[in-house]
Formats: sequence, C-alpha cells, structure tokens
Amino acid sequence: MESKRVLIIEDEKSISDIIKFNLTKEGFEAIAAYDGQDGLNKALSLMPDLILLDVMLPIMDGFAVCKKVREKSMVPIIMLTAKEEELDKVLGLELGADDYMTKPFGMRELIARIKANIRRADFISTAKSEPSNIQEFGNLAIDMNRYEVRKDETPLELTLREFELLKYLAEREDKVFSREQLLEEVWGYEYYGDIRTVDVTVRRLREKLEDDSSNPKYIMTKRGIGYYFRRP
Ligand code: CA
Repeated sequence: MESKRVLIIEDEKSISDIIKFNLTKEGFEAIAAYDGQDGLNKALSLMPDLILLDVMLPIMDGFAVCKKVREKSMVPIIMLTAKEEELDKVLGLELGADDYMTKPFGMRELIARIKANIRRADFISTAKSEPSNIQEFGNLAIDMNRYEVRKDETPLELTLREFELLKYLAEREDKVFSREQLLEEVWGYEYYGDIRTVDVTVRRLREKLEDDSSNPKYIMTKRGIGYYFRRP
C-alpha cells in the first residue's frame, strides 16, 4: 500500500517533530508547516490524506485555515486544541473539522485517530462509486450507499459525521438512542470524545435538513433520553 501523507500544521516545533517522528515510524509520509498561511498553501498544493491542525498559529489561526481548506477539499482534518475553552470554541463553530484532540495527548491515541479518520475517508471515496440506494423520507432522499442527501431535489452539503449520524438514525426510524450510544455506534469505539459532540452534530444536521431547526420534523429530541429519526 502506498504511504499516506499527513500534513502537520503546528507552530511548536518540539510537538511537530515528535508527531513527525512517530508518523514516519508508522509508515506515513509526514510534512510539517509552522504557520497557518504555509499550512493552507501546503494543504491545497500537496493533497495530504489527512491534516493535523493546531488552533493557535502565527499569521492565520487554525479556525481560518480549517474554513479555507473546507471550501476546496473534504480531506479529513483533526483539530488540536490546547485547552478546554478552545475545544468549546471549536465545537461551537461551523468549521467542518472531522475530529478534535486536546493537548496533551498520547502518541498512540493520536496515531489511532489518524488511522481511523483515513480509513473512513477511504471508505467514503469507495462508497461514491457504489450503485445508488436511495430511500425517501418526506422530502428528503438519502442515498445510503453513496453518502448523498437531497432535500426537494437540492443536494445538501453534509460532513461525513453528519451523514453517518443521519444514516444511522434514519435506518432505525423511531428508535431512541442516548448520546452515549450514538457516540459509540456512529463515532466508534476508538473515539474518546465528549458527548457534546453528538449535540453539536445534531444541531448542524438540523440547520441543514429542517425548514425550522428550532421546530424539527426529522431529527427529534426525546427529552432526558436522546435522539431519534421520525418520518414526517
Ligand atoms: Ca500553537
């Protein structure tokens, strides 16, 4: 298998170096950028398979880099945050990052996350060439194989996680899942994340799917329990 290319956008050279060392040892090709502008340039010109993106960076911060990359590419992005307040901000913003890790993190966990995110991206790109399997729910049409969703014939731009959550719930209509269950089933066993990630993803999905996201018709809240999908 050809080696996967990971771009590390991190201004602390000691952290960047140790990540690069560990990735190289695992058979990845690792490229470093030490400020946001250089990181953005490399993200767009070198076509990495995954980007590790620090939040606080010189010249252009990680939030801006993430938004700019997303305008052009669906490459998996893992944001690296230094503290809890930064994570809150990352979770609260519509950035389109795929995953988050808070420093300090262990190298084994980081490598596991990188592999999981690259596997998912490879899986999705294979899925795009599958035959369609469209299921209709009211004015939503979900192609369960190809990761595509249309509302009234208009394609919706969902992130991979948003799609996976929607698919998981829609395939199990009316069944209520707790946030912990969804984190485990949709994000996976290797995910060490915060259950707020589920709430944030539900909120974004509603903004994209619903006519009025404060009065949802598809993704419903069961108070005190969790979420479920309802056919309108
Ligand atoms: Ca930094």
